Amino acid sequence: MTNTSIQLPELNQRTILNWYKNDETRMERAVLRQGIRIHDAATATDDLPQGQGKPAALPTPKVQLEKFVPNMSDNTFGTAKIRSAAAPPASSIPRSTLSYRKRRSVEETAGMCSRKKYAPRTGPPICSKCGSPRNTDSHKQFYGNQFCAATSNVSHDVWLNELKKKGYGRRAARK
Ligand SMILES: [Zn+2]
Repeated sequence: MTNTSIQLPELNQRTILNWYKNDETRMERAVLRQGIRIHDAATATDDLPQGQGKPAALPTPKVQLEKFVPNMSDNTFGTAKIRSAAAPPASSIPRSTLSYRKRRSVEETAGMCSRKKYAPRTGPPICSKCGSPRNTDSHKQFYGNQFCAATSNVSHDVWLNELKKKGYGRRAARK
């Protein structure tokens, strides 16, 4: 055996098992293919037609296409109105003021209100001494003191000097 050139395959349990399985598969196929005539794959006998070539011109569409013209006449950059994200408050009047007004209206309707209702003055201011409108010719004022020429028994200069002697206007004169 050592002098021959025959290469013997390695014979082990796996080799024997492989041979047995292949032989079993061959026999199983032979049993299953009994009476079955297997055809060859069907092929066309005639030659296939040639493919279509490229058209000379592109086909025209059936619908009329309008050319798109972008509107570039007006530049609206920065003109967008941006809404504020936060919603404005329902009422800027504080809750305490609303509660006070409600209480006052209830008191007024019930006749419980003793406070004099504020009414804005209409027309020129009236002099409390002579009862006529306080015009600038006959009526002067100096630091909150009113001078009425119609009812005063002294002149405006004397009245002014008396007020200055009392101390009115000193703080303003120091400045
Ligand atoms: Zn007066």
